[in-house]
Amino acid sequence: MFCKIVAAELPAERVLESSRTIAFRDANPQAPVHVLVIPKEHHANAVALAEAGDGLLAEVIRQAHRVAIAEGISEDGYRLVFNTGTRAGQTVFHVHAHVLGGRAMTWPPG
Ligand code: AMP
Repeated sequence: MFCKIVAAELPAERVLESSRTIAFRDANPQAPVHVLVIPKEHHANAVALAEAGDGLLAEVIRQAHRVAIAEGISEDGYRLVFNTGTRAGQTVFHVHAHVLGGRAMTWPPG
């Protein structure tokens, strides 16, 4: 489904883009700032992305930090989440980093 956002066949509120990644607001935000960072290339999850081994996982994480800076939450802190697998709540199998912040993030999550 996120391949359609890459292809601009599905609307998304983009906040940042690089040659290999896109960041857009989550449609069902769980925090005042809730942005998803995805690689344009399709990988199912963070492990597959790491195994691609071409620096793309690192770029997704760097972009997540740039999102946090742009949203004004980099100093206070933010949560970076890769849900991996169904039982962890992964519903979209195109890897995405959740950038969550703008409120105190409790731990452990529910
Ligand atoms: P996950 O549960 O980790 O797979 O996260 C999928 C996330 O994608 C959820 O937080 C959804 O709210 C979000 N989502 C699903 N479809 C869209 C969409 N078209 N645009 C923005 N966010 C979406």
